[in-house]
Amino acid sequence: MSTMNRHDAIVLGLGIHGSAAVYELARRGFDVVGIDRFAPGHARGSSHGATRMFRRAYPNPLWNDLVERAHRGWERWGADDGAPFLHPTGGLYAHRGMPTMQGGRSRPVERAEVGAVAPSLRLPQGYGAVHDPDAGVLEAARALAHAQAGALGAGATLRFEESVLGWTVEHGTAEHGTAEHGTAEHGTVTVRTDRGELRGRRLVIAGGAWVPRLLPATAGFFEVWRIVTFTAPTGQPVAQPPALGCFSVDLPEGLVFGLPEAAGSGAKIGLDAGPVWDPEVPVAPPTDAEAEHLAGLLRRFAPGITTDGGEAAACLYTMTPDRRFVLGALPGRPEVIVAAACSGHGFKFGPAIGEAVADLVAGVDRPDLAFLDPARMVTAA
Ligand SMILES: Cc1cc2nc3c(=O)[nH]c(=O)nc-3n(C[C@H](O)[C@H](O)[C@H](O)COP(=O)(O)OP(=O)(O)OC[C@H]3O[C@@H](n4cnc5c(N)ncnc54)[C@H](O)[C@@H]3O)c2cc1C
Repeated sequence: MSTMNRHDAIVLGLGIHGSAAVYELARRGFDVVGIDRFAPGHARGSSHGATRMFRRAYPNPLWNDLVERAHRGWERWGADDGAPFLHPTGGLYAHRGMPTMQGGRSRPVERAEVGAVAPSLRLPQGYGAVHDPDAGVLEAARALAHAQAGALGAGATLRFEESVLGWTVEHGTAEHGTAEHGTAEHGTVTVRTDRGELRGRRLVIAGGAWVPRLLPATAGFFEVWRIVTFTAPTGQPVAQPPALGCFSVDLPEGLVFGLPEAAGSGAKIGLDAGPVWDPEVPVAPPTDAEAEHLAGLLRRFAPGITTDGGEAAACLYTMTPDRRFVLGALPGRPEVIVAAACSGHGFKFGPAIGEAVADLVAGVDRPDLAFLDPARMVTAA
């Protein structure tokens, strides 16, 4: 048997979820290694860009507990870093017909009230809205850097520009039975990379858009989309709270989401729809037509905003059929934990996903995560 060091956990992928997991595991004293195939700050996946939206308003109350854990997590990270990551701006979530959102302090508002809540926002005729006073803008790039620096500071090892090529699980070797940290004793995972091998008690797969490739048996369960956003220039009071907060409008062409100017970033808009994309192919930059289409939507919903000089960017969503994350041990493979949390709304949960992964590695039971069960991948595939 190889004398190679056996880590408590090996985390594949250092986007927001893998980084949050390594950070939390290291904070708890686990021996953890994080691996990413690209350099820090790369723009090939789903976690790049200056900002993301946080909201408590969610369609299904199943999410409420995880949203609260995430909110506490952002407060904890902000306290650790000496400045908040979450900038409250409020949010209005518009829909045709009956309200669809609930949670936190959110409440339906009459159309006439929209102007008072967000003077810059214009909603289409026939739309109602739910107001979430706790919605806000997250400093995403700073949060990602904080999690990685925090992980290193707590003793983790981060390896960038190294690709995981595969892994195997071995059972029944001599060293089994010497569990530490209360980690239930299962097999040992050997992870092969393009630079060598590592061994660990647990492998955490947080590979974002590459999860379908990393778990071929589940490929049919996920779909990767290319998504474009547009950010207006800064310095526009009409685009800032209290004139404008976060918003979304469900249009026939898809859900439009918007963030106000905050935390040094301009007002941003995007559409929750895009072509299927192979993450092995670098994300095609936005075309002028795509940028102008989104700029036009921003001018439509917030007509006072100037979009000249704005910038567009592209990124990847990893969608599941039920828009829920996949979080937990692989069926029949307790050594392998999957953390695939996207469907276009995962970033806000970063600290809570990190906490959940650390609990699962430590063998802490988390029945509250049953609605994110990985078994859904297998039954659907
Ligand atoms: C345009 C856009 C807007 C969004 N807006 C919001 C928002 O407002 N609010 C919100 O909550 N969420 C939002 N999201 C969703 C959110 O950003 C994602 O859910 C989240 O970033 C997913 O993070 P991740 O860590 O799972 O994936 P990623 O950040 O993609 O991380 C996966 C990592 O795995 C690595 N990897 C893959 N394969 C390998 C391998 N074989 N070996 C080593 N490393 C590997 C990749 O290099 C990558 O760094 C948005 C997403 C996009 C694209």
